[in-house]
This record gives sequence, C-alpha cells and structure tokens, in this order.
Amino acid sequence: MDMNTIEAVVPTTDPALWRDGDAWLAGGTVLFSYGSTVLKRLLDLGEANWPAITLTDEGIELAATCTVAELYALPLAAEASHREWPGLALIRPCCDSFVASFKIWNMSTVGGNICTGLPAGPMTSFCAGLDGVGTILSPDGTSRTVPVTDFVIGDMQTVLSPGELLRSIHLPASALSARVAFRRLSLSNLGRSGVLLIGRLDPDGGLVITVTASTKRPVQLRFPAGQVPDAGTLADAVGDSIPWPLYHDDIHGLPAWRRDMTFKLAEEIRAELLGESMTVSGDFWPPHATSPQPSTQPAPSNTQQKEAPNGN
Ligand SMILES: Cc1cc2nc3c(=O)[nH]c(=O)nc-3n(C[C@H](O)[C@H](O)[C@H](O)COP(=O)(O)OP(=O)(O)OC[C@H]3O[C@@H](n4cnc5c(N)ncnc54)[C@H](O)[C@@H]3O)c2cc1C
Repeated sequence: MDMNTIEAVVPTTDPALWRDGDAWLAGGTVLFSYGSTVLKRLLDLGEANWPAITLTDEGIELAATCTVAELYALPLAAEASHREWPGLALIRPCCDSFVASFKIWNMSTVGGNICTGLPAGPMTSFCAGLDGVGTILSPDGTSRTVPVTDFVIGDMQTVLSPGELLRSIHLPASALSARVAFRRLSLSNLGRSGVLLIGRLDPDGGLVITVTASTKRPVQLRFPAGQVPDAGTLADAVGDSIPWPLYHDDIHGLPAWRRDMTFKLAEEIRAELLGESMTVSGDFWPPHATSPQPSTQPAPSNTQQKEAPNGN
C-alpha cells in the first residue's frame, strides 16, 4: 500500500534522530500492508548490517533485523557449530505459525514481529518461550533490557516509548538446553494462531509454560524444580494467572474457546514433558460457569498503541 504522507526515508539505526511522525522501518510487511495517514518519515533499518544471528556458549543473539527466513535456517548453522540445544526445535514450528508466504518470511523481521505486538506474533511466542531478553536503545543514548514476556503488554501494545529501538534479543543457553513442547491451534487450516503454548522442562528440573495468542499478552507460568505441578495444580495456576479479560477476542477465536484450549494444551504439555498420561476431563477441566467480560483496563501511559490491523 502506498504511504502518501511519507516525506523521507532515512537509513539509520540512531534513535537520537527520531522525532514525532517517525517510525522504524524493518521488513515493512506491517507498515506497508496496514498503511498510515500520519507518518512523515521512515527510519530505515535496512542498512543496519547487524549480524542476524550470533551463536556463543552463552546462547543466541538475534538481531532485531534477523528475518524469519534467516531464523528458519538457524538449526542447520547450530548443528554445524556442534550446538545441539533441544530448544532449537521450537524455531520451525514458530516460523510455520506465520500465516504468510516465503515472500513475507524473506522480509519480515523478528524485531518487527515483536514490536508489532500482535497476540499471535509467533516471534513473540518463540522468544518469550525461551526466556528471551530484548535490548532497547533509547533516543537519549541509554539502553535497557526487557524480558520478551513483558515486552508485549496488550493487543498491539508494547513497552516501547516513542523513538525507542529494539536492537536484539538474547536467548540464554539455559533455556535452549531445556526439553521443549509446542502446541498451537487455529480455527482454520492456514489461519492465524488462536492459541499457542510453549513448554520447557529445564535442565534443573523446573517447568515453564508460556501462553501466547490466546491471551492479549504473553503469560508465563514457572514452577521450580521440586514444585512441578500435577494436573489439578496446573489447572489452578492457569486459572489464577489468566483472568477472563486477558483472553483475546477477535475473528480468530472467541475467548471461551481460547480459554478452554489453553487449559487443555497446558495439560498436554505438562503430561508430555513429565512423561505422564494426560488428564483432560473431570475435576481438572475448566468450568464454563461465566462468560468472558470485556477488559476495562486502560493502557499504561508509556506505551505505543498501533493502528488496528485489518489483514492477517
Ligand atoms: C500476508 C501477511 C501475512 C502475515 N501473517 C502474520 C502472522 O501470521 N502473524 C503475525 O504476527 N504477523 C503476520 N503478518 C504481519 C507481519 O508480517 C509480521 O508481524 C512481521 O514479522 C513484521 O515484521 P516487519 O519487519 O515486516 O515489521 P515492519 O512492518 O517493518 O514494522 C512493524 C512495526 O514494528 C516497528 N518496528 C520494526 N522494527 C522495530 C525495531 N527494531 N524497534 C522498534 N520498532 C520496530 C515499526 O515501526 C512498525 O510499527 C503478516 C503480514 C502479511 C502481509
């Protein structure tokens, strides 16, 4: 889509150049498909030349500009460098969770996906599920780090203040070393994710379940070694951690369906990672007593809310 209000495209990675009416331009697959009537300049990250992926013994550094296609190829590079992290098994199902063709994969970036803040953003799911930590550069020259789990705070809302730039995401070796499980549901075969859960059984015996897509923002449930839950305890924890208003409501799934499937998939993951048979009914199945209530929570003031999407 043409963006007729754009007066300049400025190649830069310097947040100090940011001013009102600017937007960071990564792959452009959101900016050019949703369009805008207010933006004046695009600060183009296309010449950032940041190494897309850096593998070290401490983990993986993903540049915000790493494309989905580059991420998809990462398991081969990791194998070649003899890093056999089980967590790498999440990459391909998460990339495949994009409702998009290879053309989109070659342009759209990990950072652009996270910064768009869609509940169904598969790069948010992937990075949150592996305890990714984002580094953010600010216009005043400072930087800060934010866990990806806390980066998206609502439907198309993030913690970014105006002008802030997501530089990279660090995925720690400890999370990459975990056994992982992946579950995703969509209402249609090639539809957007309605529910996406990632589970980890960490080397220290702790269990981590990250809920995305069904909720407006990621929700993470952490159970330390020695306190790994049974089915009933997990169902209680899901119920306590995700109140009704947090379930997302759009054309890709009703909140009640998303809620039921969140309980079901969380239990599937728990059972798979602990090697137990699954409990899907009876006492542990979520009650259907009440209907979802619309959220009345105002957005925090330091957040950016994007124009609503109308496409994928
Ligand atoms: C056909 C099609 C199918 C799609 N399917 C899906 C899907 O299934 N799931 C999904 O989540 N999305 C989907 N999208 C949306 C989009 O492709 C992805 O969200 C993509 O990952 C966005 O990345 P990008 O690099 O193109 O972002 P851009 O369009 O360049 O930017 C998106 C937003 O993030 C900001 N931004 C980008 N990079 C940074 C940064 N480093 N720091 C700060 N702000 C930044 C931009 O200013 C803009 O507001 C689809 C789009 C299309 C056209």
